[in-house]
Amino acid sequence: MKAIVYNGKKNVDVENVEDPKIEKSDDIIIKVTSTAICGSDLHLIHGMIPNMPKGFRLGHETMGIVEEVGKDVVKVKKNDRVIIPFPVACGHCCYCEHGQFSQCDNSNPNGEAGGIFGYSNTFGGYAGGQAEYLRVPYANVGPTIVPEELQDEQVLFLTDVLPTSYWGVDIGGVKRGDTVVVLGCGPIGLTAIKWCILRGANRIIAVDNVGYRLKHAASYKGVETVNFEDYDNTGEYLKEITNGGADVVLDCVGM
Ligand SMILES: [Zn+2]
Ligand SMILES: [Zn+2]
Repeated sequence: MKAIVYNGKKNVDVENVEDPKIEKSDDIIIKVTSTAICGSDLHLIHGMIPNMPKGFRLGHETMGIVEEVGKDVVKVKKNDRVIIPFPVACGHCCYCEHGQFSQCDNSNPNGEAGGIFGYSNTFGGYAGGQAEYLRVPYANVGPTIVPEELQDEQVLFLTDVLPTSYWGVDIGGVKRGDTVVVLGCGPIGLTAIKWCILRGANRIIAVDNVGYRLKHAASYKGVETVNFEDYDNTGEYLKEITNGGADVVLDCVGM
């Protein structure tokens, strides 16, 4: 099959690689129908995450059709259409039992955090889903069946972008009436803005320096935009226009 592989800093190729196989009784193999490129993939490509061997398959935002199931898989069956959340999680350790799947104790023998698809040996060494096929371990936990009437593009962001942005808004404690500054208007920033609107934020100020992204943010009713290249000290400017500072600032750029 073909897959997108890391071949060193700023060097990514499409290559023929070995097909994934069922390795454990609760694995599945999916035929990938859609997969996304994430801002977090840039951290890998820029060499910021250690333990990326050459030939490592990228991709952690993936969905597809179940092609093969291990004998202990009960949650999904062949031909089901599923989304695959990006954390690899066992479902029964202390962290998983508390819903903290990204901190799973069993899915990553190489570090403290849990495993992530396509995200280096530091995060478990799991081959990624920017490929024709993907092996999904712990298939009774992560994979979730998608209703037939929804298109791939309507649900693909559930693999990372929507829950990630929601989590940021949630732990930021955004509530009705708040003033929120959102730093960065990529997919995470834009969806965070939508969650803030749903939560009843009174004032949302979106910050970026990319014109089309700011334009997109401004198309949401009531959202103000600031291009940080227009100000010598954007922080001071934001402090001034919010009369002393926002209630919540969401950093949607990272690293
Ligand atoms: Zn991602
Ligand atoms: Zn776990």
